[in-house]
Amino acid sequence: MTVRLFAMTCGWLTMPMRMFLDGEEGEIRLPVPAYLIDHPNGQALFDSGLHTHMQNPTGERMVGLAKRFKSEFKPGEELGARLQRCDVDVGKVRYLINSHLHFDHAGGNQQVENAQLVVQQREWQAAHDADLMQSNGFALEDYDHGHDLNLVDGEHDLFGDGSVVCIPTYGHTPGHQSLKVRLARGDILLTGDACYLRQTLENLHLPRVLHDRDQMLESLGHIRALQSAGARIFYGHDAEFWKTVPQAPAEVI
Ligand SMILES: [Zn+2]
Repeated sequence: MTVRLFAMTCGWLTMPMRMFLDGEEGEIRLPVPAYLIDHPNGQALFDSGLHTHMQNPTGERMVGLAKRFKSEFKPGEELGARLQRCDVDVGKVRYLINSHLHFDHAGGNQQVENAQLVVQQREWQAAHDADLMQSNGFALEDYDHGHDLNLVDGEHDLFGDGSVVCIPTYGHTPGHQSLKVRLARGDILLTGDACYLRQTLENLHLPRVLHDRDQMLESLGHIRALQSAGARIFYGHDAEFWKTVPQAPAEVI
């Protein structure tokens, strides 16, 4: 099976560095990535980027997010537009996989309305529990748009051939998952926020804000094991690393 992978930057955010590396000063400007996986049996997306409302924010929450995180997100940078420029019919995308349900990973879900949404069961539950919504900063307007749901529990082989596999990496949020994609050259692991930066993995330097510290460390151990087994790690928000990743329509090889 030939699987192809495409990377897209759907805007940029600037946040306090300590949110990414606890104890560090200053700010960090970070890409908001989304990925297209083209499989012979259908297309899948891994994360959907920001809500289009952040391009012209109205309402307390969107105005607050755009300001607090200094969003750079122009019309044409949203997932739907990026896909269109790659000649992908967004209405025909088969699966939308969310690593987790934060605003910069699931905010674009509404743009991919016909896809089946693939999320860890425990993430979806948390994102509908008042206390966990509050503590994790979840908001229904990002992710809850009536998709056909596929709530998975742990590892999930998307096409049944081992080429695209959801890998549980809990800790950043209750049900965070990464995605392992098998390309001709070998495996790639899209880590989402289980591993923000190269430094997170190399030094186990955790962010200040996380759901469960022990689970996050366990997940980083799993990511290290996959790396040792030969997988290339794609960090969730590492601007330096991101420079080395070709942008769609160029293919990641
Ligand atoms: Zn997150």
